[in-house]
Amino acid sequence: MADESTKIVLSERELPTHWYNLAADLPTLPPPPLHPGTGQPVGPDDLAPLFPMALIEQEVSRERWIPIPEPIRDIYRLWRPTPLYRARRLEQMLGTPARIYYKYEGVSPAGSHKPNTAVAQAYYNKQEGVKRLTTETGAGQWGSALAMACAFFGLELKVYMVRASYEQKPYRRILMETWGATCVASPSPDTEAGRRVLAEHPDSPGSLGIAISEAVEDAATRSDTKYSLGSVLNHVLLHQTVIGLEALQQFAQVGDYPDVIFGCVGGGSNFAGLTFPFVREKLQGKPLRIVAVEPAACPSLTRGVYTFDFGDTGRMTPLLKMHTLGHTFVPAAIHAGGLRYHGMAPLVSLLYDQGIIEAIALPQNAVFEGAVRFARAEGIVPAPESAHAVRAAIDEALRCKETGEEKVILIGLSGHGHFDLAAYEAYLRGQLVDYEHPEEAIQQALADLPRVGV
Ligand SMILES: *Cc1c(COP(=O)(O)O)cnc(C)c1O
Repeated sequence: MADESTKIVLSERELPTHWYNLAADLPTLPPPPLHPGTGQPVGPDDLAPLFPMALIEQEVSRERWIPIPEPIRDIYRLWRPTPLYRARRLEQMLGTPARIYYKYEGVSPAGSHKPNTAVAQAYYNKQEGVKRLTTETGAGQWGSALAMACAFFGLELKVYMVRASYEQKPYRRILMETWGATCVASPSPDTEAGRRVLAEHPDSPGSLGIAISEAVEDAATRSDTKYSLGSVLNHVLLHQTVIGLEALQQFAQVGDYPDVIFGCVGGGSNFAGLTFPFVREKLQGKPLRIVAVEPAACPSLTRGVYTFDFGDTGRMTPLLKMHTLGHTFVPAAIHAGGLRYHGMAPLVSLLYDQGIIEAIALPQNAVFEGAVRFARAEGIVPAPESAHAVRAAIDEALRCKETGEEKVILIGLSGHGHFDLAAYEAYLRGQLVDYEHPEEAIQQALADLPRVGV
């Protein structure tokens, strides 16, 4: 039975010493990525122009526990271990017999879970003599996390930011510049890929796919520069497992354990980070439901197909076997910008395919309604992405109210929404539109899937 704590905290001494690698415990692994040109499996040499060797090794590692280097733990200690909260006030507001907990990653300086991998990636690049990183960013969560990490290790960073966000959402750009990064609107005149788009569409609002192509080209054509990705890849998910490892200790501390976990999924990294250490226990026999929550406007798990697809619109990245809506899929402009990715991390996709995790899709008005309820009960204003998990948990708690079940519910609260207040304003004024992607548009994008490796 749970104790009386509201905020369950660990001391800095209890900060995990290792990341957990789920690949060590899976009976089958996702197939290796395929080369975009040849359709053959991609080897370390293919990835070496883009990533440092340490990260390439982690990408394919089957070691269960991977040590977290001390300089990374030193930086983690600026905000980690993060608190696990018991949402007593939300429970009371809902009148539910369920016990609701949330693991809060919004206490990081960038306001989300993303620095957990940004710091690790900056560290390994620095170790291998890299001077400069490039990346893309949509609304700016990833760009800002990596800007902070590069500041810590004295690395230069150039961020290609989707033009529409660059113009409409200046605050995360200013955050990136404050941490010392250079940020340009994408498509930019600085790369071949950008110039090509600009020649055809001088007013292009940009897209994540175009920005990825620019950042990859920049890194591939300079010997002092590598590329960094904030989600999807195995090593990114690995770095995030520090979240779930802490949560396991925190539940042990109060003598409780979740019956069901809800996490939001864009590329899958915060979900994986929280849940993979619990997936391990589920594979060992613990009865536990693990639910990925995605937007109805970008339903890659619930309505996509499990096949090889490109990571980007520009068809430059290797092909990954994943749940995908097709690399040409353009999701509606929902406010949870971090969840607008056409694909899903291969490891998360595999778990879904094997029925180890579940998935649901929610429309954005319901999501914001849940977020506002949460804010009024608990104080924290959730990131629109995290709010998907919040809403799903509220629905579960209300089902418990009907059945009288005292379930234990865990929410992955991946970040705060302080830079997303325009989205809250739109919701509060009744201006949010619910997009359900039409089946026709999904079929159209799926028709563009590459025909390799199937
Ligand atoms: C980027 C982001 C996400 C989505 O990315 P994942 O890789 O799926 O975690 C979710 N929540 C927050 C707060 C984010 O910044």
